[in-house]
Amino acid sequence: MKDIFCRIIDGEIPSSKVYEDDDVLAILDISQITKGHTLVMPKKHCQDFLSCPQEILHKVMDVAQRIGQAEMLVLGAVGVNILSNVGEIAGQSVIHFHVHVIPRYLSQEPGFQITMQSQDIAAIDMQDLAKTIHEKMEK
Ligand code: AMP
Repeated sequence: MKDIFCRIIDGEIPSSKVYEDDDVLAILDISQITKGHTLVMPKKHCQDFLSCPQEILHKVMDVAQRIGQAEMLVLGAVGVNILSNVGEIAGQSVIHFHVHVIPRYLSQEPGFQITMQSQDIAAIDMQDLAKTIHEKMEK
Protein backbone atom coordinates (compact mmCIF):
# COMPACT_ATOMS: atom_id res chain seq x y z
CA MET A 1 0.00 0.00 0.00
CA LYS A 2 1.18 3.53 -0.81
CA ASP A 3 2.38 5.67 2.08
CA ILE A 4 0.63 8.98 2.69
CA PHE A 5 3.39 11.07 1.08
CA CYS A 6 3.29 8.97 -2.12
CA ARG A 7 -0.45 9.64 -2.18
CA ILE A 8 0.13 13.39 -1.76
CA ILE A 9 2.78 13.32 -4.52
CA ASP A 10 0.33 11.49 -6.81
CA GLY A 11 -2.33 14.12 -6.13
CA GLU A 12 -4.69 11.74 -4.32
CA ILE A 13 -4.58 13.75 -1.07
CA PRO A 14 -4.47 17.56 -0.87
CA SER A 15 -1.55 19.40 0.69
CA SER A 16 -0.28 22.93 1.23
CA LYS A 17 2.51 23.03 -1.32
CA VAL A 18 5.52 25.20 -0.53
CA TYR A 19 7.76 24.06 -3.40
CA GLU A 20 7.80 21.54 -6.22
CA ASP A 21 10.14 20.52 -9.01
CA ASP A 22 10.66 17.29 -10.98
CA ASP A 23 12.31 15.48 -8.06
CA VAL A 24 11.32 17.23 -4.83
CA LEU A 25 8.11 18.26 -3.09
CA ALA A 26 7.85 20.46 0.00
CA ILE A 27 4.57 20.82 1.90
CA LEU A 28 3.45 22.32 5.18
CA ASP A 29 3.35 19.69 7.91
CA ILE A 30 -0.24 19.17 8.95
CA SER A 31 0.86 19.35 12.61
CA GLN A 32 2.62 22.76 12.44
CA ILE A 33 4.89 22.20 15.44
CA THR A 34 5.78 25.84 14.86
CA LYS A 35 4.39 28.23 12.25
CA GLY A 36 5.90 27.30 8.88
CA HIS A 37 6.91 23.72 9.80
CA THR A 38 7.65 22.21 6.40
CA LEU A 39 8.39 18.72 5.12
CA VAL A 40 10.75 18.27 2.17
CA MET A 41 10.67 14.90 0.39
CA PRO A 42 11.78 13.16 -2.79
CA LYS A 43 8.97 12.41 -5.23
CA LYS A 44 10.43 8.99 -5.98
CA HIS A 45 9.77 6.81 -2.97
CA CYS A 46 12.63 5.90 -0.71
CA GLN A 47 12.41 4.83 2.88
CA ASP A 48 14.59 7.23 4.80
CA PHE A 49 17.63 9.52 4.92
CA LEU A 50 20.06 6.62 5.13
CA SER A 51 18.75 4.71 2.14
CA CYS A 52 18.07 7.67 -0.14
CA PRO A 53 20.25 7.76 -3.30
CA GLN A 54 22.87 10.51 -2.91
CA GLU A 55 21.86 12.54 -5.93
CA ILE A 56 18.27 12.82 -4.66
CA LEU A 57 19.39 13.40 -1.09
CA HIS A 58 21.42 16.41 -2.22
CA LYS A 59 18.41 17.84 -4.05
CA VAL A 60 16.18 17.40 -1.00
CA MET A 61 18.76 19.03 1.29
CA ASP A 62 19.21 21.92 -1.14
CA VAL A 63 15.48 22.63 -1.03
CA ALA A 64 15.43 22.27 2.78
CA GLN A 65 18.22 24.85 3.03
CA ARG A 66 16.41 27.31 0.76
CA ILE A 67 13.15 26.92 2.66
CA GLY A 68 14.96 27.50 5.97
CA GLN A 69 16.53 30.65 4.53
CA ALA A 70 13.17 31.90 3.27
CA GLU A 71 11.53 31.23 6.64
CA MET A 72 14.18 33.27 8.43
CA LEU A 73 13.46 36.16 6.06
CA VAL A 74 9.72 36.08 5.75
CA LEU A 75 8.39 34.59 8.99
CA GLY A 76 10.68 36.34 11.42
CA ALA A 77 12.16 33.05 12.60
CA VAL A 78 15.42 33.45 14.49
CA GLY A 79 16.54 29.84 14.07
CA VAL A 80 15.59 26.62 12.31
CA ASN A 81 15.77 22.96 13.25
CA ILE A 82 16.50 20.65 10.32
CA LEU A 83 15.86 17.05 11.19
CA SER A 84 15.05 13.71 9.67
CA ASN A 85 13.91 10.76 11.73
CA VAL A 86 15.18 7.33 10.65
CA GLY A 87 13.29 4.36 12.00
CA GLU A 88 10.35 4.09 14.34
CA ILE A 89 12.58 4.19 17.40
CA ALA A 90 13.79 7.62 16.28
CA GLY A 91 10.23 8.85 15.77
CA GLN A 92 9.74 8.18 12.06
CA SER A 93 6.01 7.68 11.55
CA VAL A 94 5.82 8.01 7.76
CA ILE A 95 8.14 5.60 5.97
CA HIS A 96 8.97 7.88 3.06
CA PHE A 97 12.14 9.96 3.42
CA HIS A 98 11.43 13.53 4.51
CA VAL A 99 13.26 16.38 6.15
CA HIS A 100 11.51 18.54 8.73
CA VAL A 101 12.29 22.25 8.48
CA ILE A 102 11.05 23.75 11.74
CA PRO A 103 11.39 27.51 12.13
CA ARG A 104 12.16 28.65 15.67
CA TYR A 105 10.89 31.80 17.28
CA LEU A 106 11.52 31.12 20.95
CA SER A 107 14.12 29.12 22.85
CA GLN A 108 11.28 27.26 24.57
CA GLU A 109 8.67 26.55 21.89
CA PRO A 110 5.45 25.23 23.47
CA GLY A 111 5.15 22.54 20.78
CA PHE A 112 8.77 21.51 20.34
CA GLN A 113 11.47 20.44 22.74
CA ILE A 114 14.67 18.59 22.08
CA THR A 115 16.63 17.60 25.13
CA MET A 116 20.01 16.04 24.68
CA GLN A 117 21.78 14.91 27.78
CA SER A 118 25.36 13.74 27.50
CA GLN A 119 26.20 10.40 29.00
CA ASP A 120 29.29 9.57 31.00
CA ILE A 121 32.05 9.14 28.43
CA ALA A 122 34.52 7.70 30.90
CA ALA A 123 33.39 4.19 29.91
CA ILE A 124 33.76 4.89 26.18
CA ASP A 125 37.03 4.59 24.27
CA MET A 126 36.42 7.65 22.09
CA GLN A 127 39.36 7.11 19.72
CA ASP A 128 38.42 3.48 19.14
CA LEU A 129 34.74 4.36 18.67
CA ALA A 130 35.57 7.06 16.11
CA LYS A 131 37.84 4.62 14.22
CA THR A 132 35.17 1.89 14.21
CA ILE A 133 32.61 4.22 12.65
CA HIS A 134 35.11 5.67 10.18
CA GLU A 135 36.08 2.24 8.90
CA LYS A 136 32.48 1.34 8.08
CA MET A 137 31.73 4.52 6.14
CA GLU A 138 30.78 4.19 2.48
CA LYS A 139 33.56 5.55 0.27
P1 AMP B 1 7.88 11.69 11.08
O1 AMP B 1 7.18 11.40 12.39
O2 AMP B 1 9.27 12.23 11.23
O3 AMP B 1 7.81 10.50 10.16
O4 AMP B 1 7.06 12.86 10.43
C1 AMP B 1 5.89 12.66 9.73
C2 AMP B 1 5.17 13.97 9.70
O5 AMP B 1 4.18 13.90 8.69
C3 AMP B 1 4.45 14.33 11.00
O6 AMP B 1 5.00 15.54 11.53
C4 AMP B 1 2.99 14.53 10.56
O7 AMP B 1 2.36 15.61 11.19
C5 AMP B 1 3.13 14.75 9.08
N1 AMP B 1 1.96 14.38 8.28
C6 AMP B 1 1.24 13.23 8.35
N2 AMP B 1 0.24 13.26 7.46
C7 AMP B 1 0.33 14.44 6.80
C8 AMP B 1 -0.41 15.06 5.76
N3 AMP B 1 -1.48 14.47 5.20
N4 AMP B 1 -0.04 16.28 5.33
C9 AMP B 1 1.03 16.89 5.89
N5 AMP B 1 1.78 16.36 6.87
C10 AMP B 1 1.44 15.16 7.32
